[in-house]
Amino acid sequence: MLIVMQPNTTEDKIQKVIDFIKQKGFDAHVSKGSDHTVIGAVGRKVIDKRDIELLPGVKEVIRISSPYKLVSRAFQEKDTIIDIKGIKFGGGNVGIIAGPCTVESYDQMDITASKLKSYGVNVLRGGAFKPRTSPYSFQGLGEEGLKILKEVADKYNMAITSEVMEVSQIPMFEKYVDILQVGARNMQNFNLLKSLGEIRKPVLLKRGLSATIEEWLMSAEYIMAGGNREVILCERGIRTFEHITRNTLDISAIPVVQKISHLPIVVDPSHATGLRDKVAPMSKAAVAAGCDGLIIEVHHSPDTAVCDGAQSLYPEQFEELYKELKALATVVNKKIN
Ligand code: PEP
Ligand code: MN
Repeated sequence: MLIVMQPNTTEDKIQKVIDFIKQKGFDAHVSKGSDHTVIGAVGRKVIDKRDIELLPGVKEVIRISSPYKLVSRAFQEKDTIIDIKGIKFGGGNVGIIAGPCTVESYDQMDITASKLKSYGVNVLRGGAFKPRTSPYSFQGLGEEGLKILKEVADKYNMAITSEVMEVSQIPMFEKYVDILQVGARNMQNFNLLKSLGEIRKPVLLKRGLSATIEEWLMSAEYIMAGGNREVILCERGIRTFEHITRNTLDISAIPVVQKISHLPIVVDPSHATGLRDKVAPMSKAAVAAGCDGLIIEVHHSPDTAVCDGAQSLYPEQFEELYKELKALATVVNKKIN
């Protein structure tokens, strides 16, 4: 951190700043210019920069090091590759996850999974606990939904991801699912993140509806700080002034995150757009921009789906898209598995 003092500040004020940062656990390196004095505060402690900005004689405080450590490329230069039953995310691999928004019945999951598997998909999605805006909307089948998911996934030798909503559900999820999903609305549920840091299963962390990339990475840092190194980030669109699409897909988050962090980033074009006909173009845009995976809603009968039918692909549409994505991935030196 660099502390720039106001021009011609008194020695007394400079000394007070030095004493303050030393008392907070930092070393002080003073550099005197012709009229500005700059103090470099070096250390690993976390400090609120506003505390320094308010000290007399301080003009500006510039943070140099990033607040995230474990998620950063500075900590680990090589891409993290997350391998779920042979399906890889990161390091040149684009993992594909597909399935309905929510588990409705055994037959619904069985029909969808059998089709997806025949196309080559190996990771199945399906919510059993749904975070719905209205308390009167379908809330999910609960543990029964997870059992159906597991039974169907085992039948077709697929892995599963499903959303965990609270700390008390974690042991139940560990029994049934391969990737625990944290929904956009829970991105800053810090107790949940801390508890997910203690398990040893991958976590798919969705970006909050109005979260900055820095806030999102700090949430990933919570999970990693607990010792769980398997975090997959998921860009699922952010809330903007635009209403034609459900959210606005932040494609630039892909290269931005990949520069700062070694963690894989997948894209959810379904929740990002909310519109079936926008899912294919946005999936292609995400692959072209270098994403490490996609999570796409597919339903065997979107017109009768209990939730998010309008953004769910018909299986045949997905099959077509999947072929195109495979071809596209090779152009950007990636492999879809
Ligand atoms: C979901 O994937 O089912 C979901 C609810 O997504 P999000 O948390 O991104 O809204
Ligand atoms: Mn959905």
